[in-house]
Amino acid sequence: MRLPILLVRALLPGVLLVLLAAGPATGDEDPVGVWPLRPQPDVIAHFDPPSSPYGPGHRGVDLAGRSGQRVHTALGGTVTYAGPLAGRGVVVVSHGDTRTTYEPLSASVSVGDTVDQGTVIGTLQLVGSHCAPRACLHWGWLRGETYLDPLRLVGAGPVRLLPLWRDEPVARSPGRAPLRLPYDTWRPLAW
Ligand SMILES: [Zn+2]
Repeated sequence: MRLPILLVRALLPGVLLVLLAAGPATGDEDPVGVWPLRPQPDVIAHFDPPSSPYGPGHRGVDLAGRSGQRVHTALGGTVTYAGPLAGRGVVVVSHGDTRTTYEPLSASVSVGDTVDQGTVIGTLQLVGSHCAPRACLHWGWLRGETYLDPLRLVGAGPVRLLPLWRDEPVARSPGRAPLRLPYDTWRPLAW
């Protein structure tokens, strides 16, 4: 049966042209950011995507810090939220189709500010810490309403993309108690 082979040969140049016209695939690559705390902090709690939009989980990572420590934006962008929210300070920086969130902190930027990667956006607070009584920065990354692992921005997250929304609860390490955090049910409303 030679016809399919002939067809493929006939169509292949066109396919290659389309691929060349599309250029290198950049859409799936993560942007390269910087750690929000310096020096590079320990990760106290990893990303644990919720099994449903309202389900429990950890919608970001917790980075060890100290109260008053300067917080830097991981990526350049525009500040779209800066101020108190439900009792703790929050800053959100938008970067095109994604945005990073930082809390709890005392914001030193205002909505509408343009910030470069690494710009100081505030100082870490203790009130509202996910690691109380210790201070830590809860760092989130979202595309639309989908939570992403912010460690991917600094090359420390999983290399392979995994589905974030699943029908089944996310598997946990055997013997490890489910991670319950004060803000299990927290989610951004208007960002
Ligand atoms: Zn957290």
